[in-house]
Amino acid sequence: MRQFNVVVLGAGGVGKSALTVRFVRDVFVENYDPTIEEQYHRPMMVDGERDSLEVLDTAGAEQFTSLNEVYIKSGRGFVLVFRQVPWQAILSDLSKYQFNSLTQEVSLKEVESLRKQIFRIKGSENVPIVVVGTKSDLVSEREVPTTTIESLASRWNLPFYETSAKRNWHINDVFEDLLRQMRVR
Ligand code: GDP
Ligand code: MG
Repeated sequence: MRQFNVVVLGAGGVGKSALTVRFVRDVFVENYDPTIEEQYHRPMMVDGERDSLEVLDTAGAEQFTSLNEVYIKSGRGFVLVFRQVPWQAILSDLSKYQFNSLTQEVSLKEVESLRKQIFRIKGSENVPIVVVGTKSDLVSEREVPTTTIESLASRWNLPFYETSAKRNWHINDVFEDLLRQMRVR
């Protein structure tokens, strides 16, 4: 059994704690203190092999802080979280995310930034990462074509999951994918 450090990163309020606590305790926490940073331990069986995940739920990290650097150095694999926004909004102007900080788009922009910081600090693009769009239970008027997800995923060149901590949708998939990546990198 090996032990892997996982760091959950993303803007405030995107659902990092809800995602983490659903994964490690299998409950949905409606109101988790946004200032609490906590590390959780969870063994995980994937492909017939049991390993241990140490999952750090970060709190209050702002873009470009030195704290991010500490987190990134301590992690073997990363879950980059953003809040789901209406798909039309994402699709309508992908190029905007690098330059624009409209409220709705901040969390997605943060993922772009974190991805770059991770590659810079690790000195490589060969880093285990999973990108997560949260709160999929709240996204109404879905009509999400598969191509939409594919275009996002290929833009980032990273695996992408839509999750709901509330409904327990695809939470395990995120960590399974990450564990498989960490085993071989
Ligand atoms: P964090 O600041 O990134 O840790 O965000 P939290 O995990 O504390 O979540 C922020 C808010 O979003 C809380 O009110 C949560 O109850 C809510 N939330 C988180 N995940 C979900 C989800 O999957 N579905 C719904 N409906 N609400 C969620
Ligand atoms: Mg939190």
